[in-house]
Amino acid sequence: MAKLTLHLISLTFLGPTSAMRRAILRLAWMLCSYSFVLVSLVLAVYLDRVDAAPARLLGGYILAGGLTFYALLRSGWAHRHNSPTMACPQVLFSIGAVLLAYATIPFSRTLALQWLCLILVFDMHRLQTAQIWACTALALAGLFGIVGYEQLTHTTGVNRVGEWINMGMTAITLPVLVTVSGLARRLRRQNERQRLEMAEALSQMQMLAIHDGLTRTLTRRHMQQLLDEEVSRQKRTRRVFCVAMLDLDWFKQVNDRLGHAVGDAVLIDFAAQVQSALDKGHAVARWGGEEFLILMPETSLPEAITALQRIRLAVHKHDWQRHAGNFRLTFSAGVSQHTVDDKPERILAMADGALYTAKSTGRDRTCAAPTSPEPEAVST
Ligand code: GH3
Ligand code: MG
Ligand code: MG
Repeated sequence: MAKLTLHLISLTFLGPTSAMRRAILRLAWMLCSYSFVLVSLVLAVYLDRVDAAPARLLGGYILAGGLTFYALLRSGWAHRHNSPTMACPQVLFSIGAVLLAYATIPFSRTLALQWLCLILVFDMHRLQTAQIWACTALALAGLFGIVGYEQLTHTTGVNRVGEWINMGMTAITLPVLVTVSGLARRLRRQNERQRLEMAEALSQMQMLAIHDGLTRTLTRRHMQQLLDEEVSRQKRTRRVFCVAMLDLDWFKQVNDRLGHAVGDAVLIDFAAQVQSALDKGHAVARWGGEEFLILMPETSLPEAITALQRIRLAVHKHDWQRHAGNFRLTFSAGVSQHTVDDKPERILAMADGALYTAKSTGRDRTCAAPTSPEPEAVST
């Protein structure tokens, strides 16, 4: 219930989209710092340190600005006008508040300069470099304008020399601050970029470590791990799984007749055909030379044979003649189903035995390893 109420409040005041909520929360943070200014103003007026009229003017400026920004963000106007956070207008508004305070409340002058530094550093990452420098220049021009005007019209009672020293310090401090913050921001971005590049390189290395360089199927080593995992999973779940050993027929002749490079291209092509005909959840590895192993988790023997028939059909249909005229590729396969107490080596030996049967009974076929001692041909 409390969660729902919170959600409703957030939806009502912060808006429906996460971007809008972020922008309004950001505005709320800005207004928090202004509320500190407003409270200080009230206190200063109460203690007779500040005249009521300029304090009212500054308070009114802050309240009107805050409400206007809230209305523009919450109504979606800012979003429609391509300024979803209104970062630059908010910084300009803040600079306006500082200049107003500086011009009308002499008591606040030192504070106003510190406030200006805070605004520029705090909002720096939301603005582009050109915008931040334009804001810095505008703030300095405003401050110099105010002080120059006061000196010309003799409207200030404050110490002239002290005032110019203050201005000089600000003219040095602000650009230095902006430059240093900019450098820090650039370093942070660079670190982030390097972190992303390293993560990318790591995932690339992990990918390369488990994939065969030529055929892009899994490596034997990785398949062995998958097989061990599947065996332990089966001990828990008691769900059967199958492995199939595939071997290209007469592949040596391909190399002898067409050359090793064409042999490589045929291997790549074959692996691609198998991968695209593979069932979801099944995995294929290059077991060695022109032999591939398919792991079929949660698959019964009849389902495995059907899956292999589909692969065989895809290989039959494929246009192999692009490697050489009249060239046609076939493969033989041996498949075995894993029973609970089998070790991985036994299921592999059984699939290998069934493959041998497929080869010796004519090739281009699948044989299943039976539970009985003799393997039998089940499909061609
Ligand atoms: P069978 O039908 O009995 O399997 O006959 P086969 O010729 O395919 O079998 P054999 O074991 O006699 O030959 C396998 C060939 O596969 C020999 C080897 O040169 C070739 N081979 C193994 N790895 C690669 C490879 O990475 N690239 C190429 N081009 N050929 C390879
Ligand atoms: Mg072989
Ligand atoms: Mg072969």
